[in-house]
Amino acid sequence: PFKIQERNLPKLELLRMSREQQAVACARKAFETGRSKSLEHRIRQLKNLKRLFAERQQEISDASKKDLNKSEAGTQLFETVGLEGEINLVIRKLKEWAAPRKVEKNLLIISDTVYIKPEPLGVVLIIGAWNYPWAVTIQPLVGAIAAGNAVVIKPSEVCVHTAKVMEELLPLYIDKELYPVVSGGVPETQELLRQRFDHIFYTGNSVVGKLIMEAAAKHLTPVTLELGGKSPCYIDKDCDISIACRRVTWGKYTNCGQTCIAPDYILCEPSIQDRVIEEVKKSIKDFYTENPKTCPDYGRIINQRHFKRIMAMVDDSTVAAGGDNDESDCYIAPTVLRDVKPEAKVMQEEIFGPLLPILPVSGLDEAIKFINKREKPLALYVFTANDKVIQKMVDETSSGGLLANDCIVHFSVSSLPFGGVGNSGMGCYHGKFSFDQMSHLRGCLIKQLKMEGMNSMRYPPHTMEKLGW
Ligand code: NAD
Repeated sequence: PFKIQERNLPKLELLRMSREQQAVACARKAFETGRSKSLEHRIRQLKNLKRLFAERQQEISDASKKDLNKSEAGTQLFETVGLEGEINLVIRKLKEWAAPRKVEKNLLIISDTVYIKPEPLGVVLIIGAWNYPWAVTIQPLVGAIAAGNAVVIKPSEVCVHTAKVMEELLPLYIDKELYPVVSGGVPETQELLRQRFDHIFYTGNSVVGKLIMEAAAKHLTPVTLELGGKSPCYIDKDCDISIACRRVTWGKYTNCGQTCIAPDYILCEPSIQDRVIEEVKKSIKDFYTENPKTCPDYGRIINQRHFKRIMAMVDDSTVAAGGDNDESDCYIAPTVLRDVKPEAKVMQEEIFGPLLPILPVSGLDEAIKFINKREKPLALYVFTANDKVIQKMVDETSSGGLLANDCIVHFSVSSLPFGGVGNSGMGCYHGKFSFDQMSHLRGCLIKQLKMEGMNSMRYPPHTMEKLGW
């Protein structure tokens, strides 16, 4: 998909390079031309990306259907509409974001010019995941282009069909020398990681996140790690349980539970557990009919490896709803598990599938203790009609983001930073946060060669007398 001009790199040198090295060299050479820095060029590329979504929706949807059984409307709703909104925002705001930023002055620099100049970092590597492949690969790309970088794009090989569409379409719409796409799996990514980048933006699981950081450390490359983990959901007894469960059901079973910010498990008092189960069951039926397997809005597990991983979590817990499955179709019914123990298999790692464990706790205090004993989650959900409960959750826990009385939708608020903390990641993006994340914020102080007398105090000899102390 990328082509290195002979004028850029000698042929012999090219022959010795791996495909991944070629892509990086190509992006680096293109970056050195300086064209990615022009605001007009950045905006043109972003408009071209928008055109890609307008013109190629069918190919995008067909691939999503094959990879994850996503419906056409679902693909638009959860992936492309949000991206178009993000691109529109960036186009509208880019001039303002890229402009020098005024800062406060102190007395010593009162007559000088002082500002922050955002500048591109250079060549950014974006490594995408498979669950919302467009959102998690293209949204960082939008930020990286906006900030004036060259970008090597590595889509996840796990969503086989979408990766192919991305690899084919991106070079047709955006500058293929500045933004080459490299396809492939683990060996290809590892080869990419041996190269030197100016930033690495990785989305995926925390285990691989550590490998990314290790590889980046060799070149002192800064990283953004958008990871996952177990996002808790506390349902307070003082709330409209029917509405709460409807929203949780949507958050959990959308994309068959394969959402980084899906509510992973529910904490609630034993007295409301039965009611929660009944309401979740009711919503499952409303959303996905009596037979989710034939419902066009119910997805599939991405592959058999993940199917086996998820099914292996069920056997030591009590199934309260769902449970049926079909390995040949990568189908797992929306499943609820009741009276789950903290030691149960389903509580040992991020589920990333359509299982919803419910863990009874004595109340808010125990829920907070439970959450704080574990790794900091990517998202934290609390459902309650009581503002004090929300405030206590905000004050006494930590997580990438917090959302009260809904699930997932904070992802679409571009004025909020999206990212993890601790084990759920580092760095953040969306809207201006993406722009800043992929820029170097350069502090600039412009002085004049005048008023030299003012400096005598800092020049040796340093005497108390001179300082007036
Ligand atoms: P994945 O298997 O697609 O891996 C992600 C990327 O890492 C791929 O491009 C893959 O090629 C590469 N990779 C995999 N193993 C590697 C290795 N050993 N060395 C180098 N590169 C390697 O995706 P996944 O990890 O299964 O994704 C699911 C995880 O991602 C979940 O934990 C989920 O919560 C998280 N996630 C987070 C976000 C977020 O925004 N924070 C979004 C989506 C998914």
